[in-house]
Amino acid sequence: MLELTLNLPETDLPRIVVIGAGFAGLTFARKMIGKPYQVVLFDKNNFHQFQPLFYQVAMAGLEPSSISFPLRKTFQKAKNVFIRVAEMESIDQEKKVICTNQGNVTYDYVVIATGAVTNYFGNEKIKQSTLGLKSVGEALNLRNEILNDFERALQVPSYDKRQALIDIVIVGGGATGVELAGSLAELKKYILPKDYNELDAKEVDIYLVQGGDQLLLGLDPKLGKIAEDYLRKMGVRVLLNARVVDIQDNFVMMKDGSTIEARKVIWAAGVTCQEVTGLPKENYHRKNRLIVNQINQLLTDQSIFVLGDAAFMESEDYPNGHPQVAQPAIQQAKHLVKNIKKHGFENMGNWKPFKYNDLGSMATVGRNKAVVQLPKFNLRGFFAWIIWLGVHLYALIGVKNRLIVMFNWIWNYFTYDQSLRLIIKPQSNKKETDNTI
Ligand SMILES: Cc1cc2nc3c(=O)[nH]c(=O)nc-3n(C[C@H](O)[C@H](O)[C@H](O)COP(=O)(O)OP(=O)(O)OC[C@H]3O[C@@H](n4cnc5c(N)ncnc54)[C@H](O)[C@@H]3O)c2cc1C
Repeated sequence: MLELTLNLPETDLPRIVVIGAGFAGLTFARKMIGKPYQVVLFDKNNFHQFQPLFYQVAMAGLEPSSISFPLRKTFQKAKNVFIRVAEMESIDQEKKVICTNQGNVTYDYVVIATGAVTNYFGNEKIKQSTLGLKSVGEALNLRNEILNDFERALQVPSYDKRQALIDIVIVGGGATGVELAGSLAELKKYILPKDYNELDAKEVDIYLVQGGDQLLLGLDPKLGKIAEDYLRKMGVRVLLNARVVDIQDNFVMMKDGSTIEARKVIWAAGVTCQEVTGLPKENYHRKNRLIVNQINQLLTDQSIFVLGDAAFMESEDYPNGHPQVAQPAIQQAKHLVKNIKKHGFENMGNWKPFKYNDLGSMATVGRNKAVVQLPKFNLRGFFAWIIWLGVHLYALIGVKNRLIVMFNWIWNYFTYDQSLRLIIKPQSNKKETDNTI
């Protein structure tokens, strides 16, 4: 345990330490501005990242800065909120201390909002050989890898050797996989023939591998089928009931014995949560989500609350917990603040239980193509796409970011062109780029 402290001002106010400035942590801290508590907001980054648009950064459609928002800007005028860029390492419940890589901090209450991480199902080899999409850094890395491989492919005369560089495999047919596959298909159709006219765009194969028999699991199966049809028409090879079991030397091995040659495998096959060192085992549910009661309080500790992706709250409507998407995280954070404001921590017995208001789910496949599931009806096509655009613009933090993103989308729509195809500073969790091709 580091003996450093994080140099926070002494206070008579109760201290709430919030770990993670994602949708849940940031919403909570913003709503607590001016309230009689000292709020300490930690994140390992000094910015909030808007994960739903990572794939557009990866596809060179948006700059990372337009989907990221500096935390200090949000709290410039807040006198009771203190930001620390630090990574939580453990919790000492007995001493009420959070240990971070920068020092320790005592707390009266803790809000854990650390979200989720990519689930590699314990397979270290797959982790090393695939590309993830769980941070702005990974999105940029993916963009670099794709552009870099197109550049390299131009220099390779042999068709067989070129394939591994230009073909792409996406594992996971959820919203992230579907959105990535759709925008790769558009990149292939609109950008490649212009930028890389020496390459035959028809040679580029995009595979979307899904373990089950439906895309967009969790949505109405009819919408999954519509998304599948869209993708197939756009030239994506959708493989249902298919599983990747191994990756060796640019070959993706499938469970049925077949192989696909591709250097880039994007892993979007699900998420899990990181264990919090110091919390007893009985707090964990499947995929390491922390079990909370109906007021988001940790099973074994009344002073610890868990929000968003990291929380597992069982309810009649959601026996398997809430979906790991933005809305439950935001709504839980708002609800927790409401309870604190109305009753304080002294009267937790009077706190109201959380009830999730499902506003709908959606995914886009490409221009004019999206599926939206609303509580009473479904939409597809152009109107669904407009709703998708509107919802994502509205949810973005920062007026400037909204304007930049809107401008980029309008520009791309009319010009069929994204203008951000720069290879900037490669950063990879893959092993050294191989030069065997
Ligand atoms: C590629 C992608 C696309 C998505 N698309 C959609 C979509 O279209 N619609 C939708 O509703 N949802 C989408 N999601 C899911 C959505 O982003 C999450 O459900 C949501 O972000 C969860 O919010 P959260 O606050 O629980 O966690 P997060 O928003 O993930 O925030 C967690 C924060 O905690 C920080 N953190 C983690 N560990 C530590 C630590 N040890 N110390 C300090 N800080 C830490 C992280 O840096 C991060 O800022 C998508 C997710 C991904 C990855």
